[in-house]
Amino acid sequence: MPSIEEEALKIIQSRPDGVLQSELWKILGIDSRKCSRVVKKLFDGGLIDRTEFRDEGIKTYQLTSRQQAIDPALFMAGEELIPCIACDLDCIVEQCPLILDWMYELAITEVNE
Ligand code: SF4
Repeated sequence: MPSIEEEALKIIQSRPDGVLQSELWKILGIDSRKCSRVVKKLFDGGLIDRTEFRDEGIKTYQLTSRQQAIDPALFMAGEELIPCIACDLDCIVEQCPLILDWMYELAITEVNE
């Protein structure tokens, strides 16, 4: 089960413009004080930025992720998952037959789309 920090980060990452802290605690179903602690942990960990924001005159923070979530589709060539995931070979990319095969599959997939 993901921690509340992981859930919060996922929500923040899912929105390119970020999320207001005053909305985040409602989305997470926690109270605003606990949300402040979660946000502080994420901020102190360098995972998010926070910018002061006035929402109908009330001070809150716009929370944005320093890294956006990666689209898993980018790791696929058709049905083929990129071989680098969990690869434990000594990597010399230019000489790797696995990545060459995967790139070939990617080219075929893109031509067929
Ligand atoms: S390029 Fe080849 S050797 Fe390098 S990580 Fe990917 S699959 Fe492994």
